[in-house]
Amino acid sequence: MRKHNFGAGPGILPEIALKKTQEALIDFNGIGMGVMEISHRSKDFEMVLQKAKSLVKELLGVPDTHEVLFLQGGASTQFAMVAMNYLKTKAAYLDQGAWSNKAIKEAKLFGEVNVLASSKDKNYSYQPKGYSIPSDCDYLHICSNETIHGTQVKSFPSSPIPVICDMSSDIFSRPVDVKSFDMIYAGAQKNMGPSGVTLVIVKKDTVGKVERTMPTMLNYKTHLENDSLYNTPPVIAILVCMHVLDWLKSLGGINEMQK
Ligand SMILES: *Cc1c(COP(=O)(O)O)cnc(C)c1O
Repeated sequence: MRKHNFGAGPGILPEIALKKTQEALIDFNGIGMGVMEISHRSKDFEMVLQKAKSLVKELLGVPDTHEVLFLQGGASTQFAMVAMNYLKTKAAYLDQGAWSNKAIKEAKLFGEVNVLASSKDKNYSYQPKGYSIPSDCDYLHICSNETIHGTQVKSFPSSPIPVICDMSSDIFSRPVDVKSFDMIYAGAQKNMGPSGVTLVIVKKDTVGKVERTMPTMLNYKTHLENDSLYNTPPVIAILVCMHVLDWLKSLGGINEMQK
């Protein structure tokens, strides 16, 4: 029997997803080559990318205003990328724990950070509350589940400014109203696959609005315009995610997962 892993980090994956991936390593779709050995621009891989993307859209109910990207560098790279792409002068952050702290640290490299509320006084044992969201900030950053401290945002505040959310450790575990977020990100390894790929769901018309020169790879516009194929994507990681999401769908989707 396979063992379970209750650690709040990389989780176990459905056996069927592992088996299907194992097959694809040697002979993918019966083409006589493994998935790691073919072009990421081949028809066979393109189908994987598109299916993974459409499963994300279907399961989470992603509206047409938003696009799904598969990036690299983990959620930790998103801490910087979010600020680089969205912070013009000042951004609002909640100090919810370890991951929010890392996000705040990166944001400070690009502008002013207004920490609206904190739960540091009680070692982050609760979610910060009783704050108001100033309308003069470029966005509000929230971590939906502070993995290390074990506190989750149960309902998201209604906000006069765009909301950006780190959902690394609770994505696909409960329904979310995607349209109320300008940007959602999640490292795959906790809830949807292996490490090596980061899911980004971005509202398309919010991209490219900041005036800042930035490296091509760190610009969401690059990945939006190239459908996550500007450079070689992490093919295995995306393939595993596709199989995991397929499995999740076969169980009945997010409502079943939440139960
Ligand atoms: C694990 C985790 C991260 C870091 O993810 P990496 O992909 O390892 O960079 C960021 N935010 C939250 C909420 C996490 O649980």
